[in-house]
Amino acid sequence: GTEMASGGQASQRLNGLKIKDVQAMPVIVRETTSVHDAVVTLFLENVGSLIVADDDGYLSGVISRKDLLKFTLGNPSASTMPVSLVMTRQPNIIYVQPEEAILDAARKMIHHQVDSLPVVTVAKNGKQEVVGRITKTTMTKVLLDIAAES
Ligand code: ADP
Repeated sequence: GTEMASGGQASQRLNGLKIKDVQAMPVIVRETTSVHDAVVTLFLENVGSLIVADDDGYLSGVISRKDLLKFTLGNPSASTMPVSLVMTRQPNIIYVQPEEAILDAARKMIHHQVDSLPVVTVAKNGKQEVVGRITKTTMTKVLLDIAAES
């Protein structure tokens, strides 16, 4: 194909991609999950942060590696405590919906300085059901895919 600067194909491709086209599986824990189990899950699932759901399965919070490091440092009993004490909680979670453009997710991650976003659908009761996750790694993969196409 033609080069990016002349054709603008890469930019067209980027603008046409939606969250649902590129989202990854969400890694979800419960509010009652211990800090110890959350750390184990980070390693087993090879992710940098976890999504926390409430008893009904709706979005409740997000917990990152730095949240866990900060909480654990100098706190001997941290590992048995629930992640609900550590997580960033609603209504402060930045999320995206499946029909949004991936560039919206990129803007949100840069603007809010976070590495990942839960992908949610909003239920009739206004609560958010977690259906996926999108990360800076997702964005890097998209970049490579588009480079390979042109
Ligand atoms: P890390 O803390 O490992 O660098 P992040 O940059 O993603 O990872 O997280 C920075 C802070 O923002 C953490 O306190 C985390 O709980 C919070 N955070 C992460 N993702 C989100 C999000 N989607 N919405 C709101 N807060 C978030």
